Amino acid sequence: MSFIDTIESMTPSEIRRVQGELLRRTVDYCRSRSPFYRKRLKGMGAISSIDDIASIPLTSKADIQEENSAFLCVPMTEVAEVVATTGTTGTHVYNWLTTGDLARLAENERRAFARAGVTPSDIFLLAVTLDNLFIAGMAYYSGLRKLGAGVVRLGPHSPRKHLEVIQALRPTGIVAVPSFISAVYRQADKDDIDINSLGIRKAVLIGETIRNADFTSNELGNIVERLDGLETYSTYGITEISAAFCECPSRSGLHGHSDLVYAEIIDEDGHIAPDGEAGELVVTTFGVEGTPLIRYRTGDVTFKVKGACECGASSVRLGPVIGRKAHKLKVKGATIYPRAIENALVGINGVENYVIEAYTGDDHSDALIVRVGSHNMKSAFKLDICDAIRAKARVTPQVEVMPPQEVDKILFEGGGRKPMLFIDRRRKANDVKL
Ligand SMILES: [Zn+2]
Repeated sequence: MSFIDTIESMTPSEIRRVQGELLRRTVDYCRSRSPFYRKRLKGMGAISSIDDIASIPLTSKADIQEENSAFLCVPMTEVAEVVATTGTTGTHVYNWLTTGDLARLAENERRAFARAGVTPSDIFLLAVTLDNLFIAGMAYYSGLRKLGAGVVRLGPHSPRKHLEVIQALRPTGIVAVPSFISAVYRQADKDDIDINSLGIRKAVLIGETIRNADFTSNELGNIVERLDGLETYSTYGITEISAAFCECPSRSGLHGHSDLVYAEIIDEDGHIAPDGEAGELVVTTFGVEGTPLIRYRTGDVTFKVKGACECGASSVRLGPVIGRKAHKLKVKGATIYPRAIENALVGINGVENYVIEAYTGDDHSDALIVRVGSHNMKSAFKLDICDAIRAKARVTPQVEVMPPQEVDKILFEGGGRKPMLFIDRRRKANDVKL
């Protein structure tokens, strides 16, 4: 059965009725099985509609980090896979999945690929990590297989290796991080290979956003879309909820699946924000058996898109992620997220890598240093960088150009699995001696 025959084709009021029932089941399940939620939801009244969600307490990443195993709702014997994210202290925070959860994960991705027009005759190259406790590679792999499409699991290899495999096996699509596709193009240019001869028609992109808030392509999107006729689909996945949001061909927001997740946007005071207004994304999982989450604060700032989508689905649509809530900066009175600076830097030739550092300035407001790794030490290059950041992010930070290997050292100084593109060295309120 096509996904469009199920909940996605219901009217918004029918969807809300079904979601009310799914919320009631989720709350009952968590209260009876999760030691954390038994305690957290003690004394809470019965759920009669989805609107009752506003009365349920929020769950934070710190909650999961502090009481990780208290979220587990099944005996270990029923666990099929364990995935992890990195906690605030650099340690792993685990998420346990049952066989049923793996099927839910695959179904979420099957629908996403179907929405993007992928068919069983497509073959997708997976340029993402499939092990190391990461969920994304596994999710995309299982979704493509459930749809019946072919998969080439190359994983994180060099751009040259990817070019070799693309030329040999002629995949029709690719799942990759956008900046990796950019690296593949650069390698193709070096090797005198015409990227338009490669036969790739669809790119499902993860990890980095390729859209501006108005859904036009950002610098990174423009780079990826250099390949003639390439259809790009931005996706946004959250490990903790075992689900991803994905664009449809109208590319006006990232669709969620109404029977698998419930998304809310909350303002600074924790109240539900109206559609179109930016705030923190809060997600509740439906149908998760291992580690279900109720009103999980993702820490990502985005907005809900108003109205129905041109594609016909009434499900929730999210805007591109604007930034991390914890990374919100106030620079000379203006609110800015480091991601806006990242978007400015990716379009500049000669920028090999970069790290953005925030600190507390002499005037107690937030200040920024952008350290750019490059072999170009000319002062005109530095000025170009400053201009691009001013134009795209509307701030003028201090910019320092240094050898790329020096930037690399800073990027991995926390010892994490991923480079830390943003380092927060701001004084916290409790650092200030009174
Ligand atoms: Zn749509």
